[in-house]
Amino acid sequence: MCSRERMLELEPSLSPDTVGGLYAPSGGIVEPYRFVFSLVESAMKNGVRLLTEFKVSSARREDDAWLIDASDGRTISARYVVNSAGLHADEVSAAFGAEEFTIRPRKGEYYLLDKSAKARPKRVVFPVPTAVSKGMLVIPTVEGTVLIGPTATDVDDKEDFSTTRIKLEKILSSARTMIPAISETDVITSFAGLRPAYGDDFYIGLSAKAPRFVQVAAIQSPGLTASPAIGEYVKDLLKKNGLRLVEKPDWDPLVDKVKRARDLSLFELDETSANDFAYGEIICRCERVSEAEIVQAIRSGHRTLDGIKYVTRAQMGRCQGGFCAYKIIKILMRETGMGWDEVTKRGGASKVLQGANYETAEKGRRRHRGRGGGHDRGGTARGERSLLRDRGTGGRPGRHPHAMHPQRLRPNRVQ
Ligand SMILES: Cc1cc2nc3c(=O)[nH]c(=O)nc-3n(C[C@H](O)[C@H](O)[C@H](O)COP(=O)(O)OP(=O)(O)OC[C@H]3O[C@@H](n4cnc5c(N)ncnc54)[C@H](O)[C@@H]3O)c2cc1C
Repeated sequence: MCSRERMLELEPSLSPDTVGGLYAPSGGIVEPYRFVFSLVESAMKNGVRLLTEFKVSSARREDDAWLIDASDGRTISARYVVNSAGLHADEVSAAFGAEEFTIRPRKGEYYLLDKSAKARPKRVVFPVPTAVSKGMLVIPTVEGTVLIGPTATDVDDKEDFSTTRIKLEKILSSARTMIPAISETDVITSFAGLRPAYGDDFYIGLSAKAPRFVQVAAIQSPGLTASPAIGEYVKDLLKKNGLRLVEKPDWDPLVDKVKRARDLSLFELDETSANDFAYGEIICRCERVSEAEIVQAIRSGHRTLDGIKYVTRAQMGRCQGGFCAYKIIKILMRETGMGWDEVTKRGGASKVLQGANYETAEKGRRRHRGRGGGHDRGGTARGERSLLRDRGTGGRPGRHPHAMHPQRLRPNRVQ
């Protein structure tokens, strides 16, 4: 426990009304996307096969194995199954004839403050926790921005990722109680995430109804922090259930570090781009992300705008993709051979370009070229940018202007 004086010495931006606090020097912050991508990359490097867009719809037993069907008609077989389907773990459990339970989404809204925000603490600042949550925090992120939030509200809809003005005001007011200099003008985007709640705790265990089926459900906060320990625990459950695990002698967990333009000095960037021109082409100016990094992300399997964003940070800065999204779409089309109508925000039906406008823009461009204007210049850029659907609503009508939907935390523009 620390006195008021010690608290203000540790965090000078704290309110002078602070009366004291608990200091936990072992607390830390991770960049969640980088954490998850690194684990996936490491697993794949060591032989794991990753199937994406594989939505489990049904399962049956055959010859001592599970045959698992995806909604698109693909089928795979597995000897053991771990149900870690987040918000949909109850539906997956039902598909395997395992335990019946209901996941209730508990929404948490967050607001992101620009890197230039003056009120950036050095550590995560918590209020005194409440009965339902750890309270709304002020979090300096690894990348230099500041997160404030989250709220904790039970909702019925597993797709309700809307954020609201009322909650923004609540979060701002709570954050300012701790750090008075936090300003609304620093807010660059909003997020909502849904915690998969079932009772008050994680639900982890071997199924008593479905053979060789492990439930890893209701992994609400702090599921990310707990994930390495959960992994160890589930490994032991699988071993207890008869799975034989042998460590690979050539197992190499380390993944290659990608060279990032933003980590280089201007001199280093100049030198790097002399050898690889694509490093000299800065696509996202807010976060200083080069074309080389975008291409690397695409070639390593990230084929959606959100996938590229999470791995490179392009579209995550102050303009939230306003200037770079159309450039990323063009690189994505060039690298993958995708048609414009196949580009999505986060897979599935989340298309970002609409046909009629695109064709009009294409016609305009051809006319322009026909008149001797050979270069893709501002006209093209403006034409294509106008094709982007309302990114806040994902183009879905009738939703709150802040509505958003990709998995977990999804960025959204604050009006
Ligand atoms: C607002 C908020 C704040 C949080 N704060 C913290 C924090 O400070 N610290 C912390 O440690 N944790 C925090 N968490 C919790 C953390 O984010 C979760 O615990 C973690 O993401 C859960 O991981 P998971 O793998 O169980 O589920 P998810 O990350 O939701 O993954 C589930 C996966 O299953 C897939 N899936 C679903 N249905 C199917 C299907 N039918 N077929 C195939 N795949 C399917 C989904 O597409 C998804 O990829 C927070 C969460 C929220 C929402």
